Amino acid sequence: MNDSKMVYSTLITPDGTILRSRHRHDYVIHTDANDDVYMLGGGIDYIRSSLNGDEQYFTLTLDDDHETIRQYVDWGSYGKNGDEPLHYIKVMDMETDHIKAILSTIPHVHPHLKQVMINELEYRNGKTEKGVKVVDYHECPSCGLRITTAQVLSARRNYSCTNCGEHKIRQFKIIYK
Ligand SMILES: [Zn+2]
Repeated sequence: MNDSKMVYSTLITPDGTILRSRHRHDYVIHTDANDDVYMLGGGIDYIRSSLNGDEQYFTLTLDDDHETIRQYVDWGSYGKNGDEPLHYIKVMDMETDHIKAILSTIPHVHPHLKQVMINELEYRNGKTEKGVKVVDYHECPSCGLRITTAQVLSARRNYSCTNCGEHKIRQFKIIYK
């Protein structure tokens, strides 16, 4: 199987249990109704699984239709303020700003998932949003200092507002044209 661009990996056992491996070291194990043990690991990098012979697999790759991918691939979140229990949001249900924030602020997003996020933004621009919103500038919520998107993206660290120090630049409000 060509799993080089995998974005979703599950194994379905004979009793209908769905095992999903989210990342490389995520090994999920299930003792089936038939007493055999089923296992899946490897996340979206490769498939490492039990070989009882009656495993079924359901995987998605970047070659699949994005319409399908967005209904399955999800993203773990601790909420806007990082204080909620871990929960998973399907890409189709994520807020556009959340996706943009992930793309611009999280350095080590798996490249396959990053591509899913980019595809989702394109999907929304083409199908669900009227026109593309253009960012004008980023504004400090406390003092109103304005900086450009280029300044935010090129910043090597998330420094505090150079005027008032109240907010980090990644927390600046995005103002659209
Ligand atoms: Zn400020």
